[in-house]
Amino acid sequence: MSIADRLSAIAESATLKVGANAERMRRAGISVLDLGAGEPDFNTPEHAKAAAVAAIDQNFTRYTAASGVLELREAVSARYVEQYGVDVKPNQVSIAAGGKQALFNIALALYNPGDEVITHGPYWPTIVEQIKMVGAVPVVVRTSSAAGFAVEAGPIIERITPRTKAIIINSPGNPTGALISEAALAEVAEAAAPRGIWVVVDLCYERLIYEQEPHNLPKVLFDRIRDRAVLCGSASKTYAMTGWRCGWTIAPAQVIGACNTILSHATSNVASVSQKAAIGALTGPQEGVTRMLDEYRKRRDAMHSWLTAHPSIRCVKPKGAFYLFPDFSDLLSPGGISTSGRLAEELLEKAHVALTPGEAFDAPGYARISYATSMDTLRDAATRILEFADTLAPRSKPA
Ligand code: PMP
Repeated sequence: MSIADRLSAIAESATLKVGANAERMRRAGISVLDLGAGEPDFNTPEHAKAAAVAAIDQNFTRYTAASGVLELREAVSARYVEQYGVDVKPNQVSIAAGGKQALFNIALALYNPGDEVITHGPYWPTIVEQIKMVGAVPVVVRTSSAAGFAVEAGPIIERITPRTKAIIINSPGNPTGALISEAALAEVAEAAAPRGIWVVVDLCYERLIYEQEPHNLPKVLFDRIRDRAVLCGSASKTYAMTGWRCGWTIAPAQVIGACNTILSHATSNVASVSQKAAIGALTGPQEGVTRMLDEYRKRRDAMHSWLTAHPSIRCVKPKGAFYLFPDFSDLLSPGGISTSGRLAEELLEKAHVALTPGEAFDAPGYARISYATSMDTLRDAATRILEFADTLAPRSKPA
């Protein structure tokens, strides 16, 4: 079949595939504990839903500007001004169908074929696949579990070449939950600025940070590289609005113009009703965000302690997002289950627990566990995972 060349090296979203497999088993009547989902299990806030219902009642159901309505771009800029003390104008904001499209618009707008784009791994696969889709070349800097997957400046700066067009940082990161420190981002920005390299920060999980750690990445970036700084954000995780498909790009006005041109020929505006819901979420009460954060923190702590009770499961305690990324390599063996991909399959088939194998994030030996699910589900899943682990590497019983 003659599928275009640009798709030849592009992989299907493995995270979405896990969900599909779990759903298939569920439809066959099997009770699957799904730790694959990268989305909040909370409901969209009432005030956001009410704004959407009002939009429908008022027949706000037609095309809007491709860039998104001014009121939403104002709400996004106001939130960044308030939260980070940075200067963002509505003409520096473009609304997209989720953070995913916000990042893709940037890939289309900035990366030429053959350009190198540096990012860090283990990574959310979309970041790398988007780089490849526009013909650019991903350059991945490894972070290590021994260092808590911290994103350091030195190894990123070392990989800069004359062909480097951009550096993409995802913090808090998927799948590791790791943060880049303000100091490390400052170093990256200071290295990028004189070379004309763009710094793109994926802030999709920006409100899901559990530790009291200074993390004003927008200000760090804007103070050093304002004319080549790009922020991509989203209502998806912060406001439990994954299905509404609403995210944003913040960048210099000229880049935003390019993003809007792309939108105007690709999808046009984000659904008008979703835009109103996002305005409701951004301008309404924010307590729900803290409530969700507190609940995620409890789940993170509980799941982390349950899993690490097994000596063959090692796991960094993540600082943000809603994933654990344990190292299962001690359970693997050439004669038994030899890869984390196989481990995930066996866990699904035998223990009916769905998680995403590390291979999806270019980190074999690991697996991603989403704790954006109820404590009961997590408890049952942990029990099943530990029982399964015991069949591979039994824990020694106390004498
Ligand atoms: N960035 C990261 C790191 C993500 O994990 C996701 C969602 N899984 C996104 C961006 C985009 O999410 P959305 O398109 O729903 O805003």
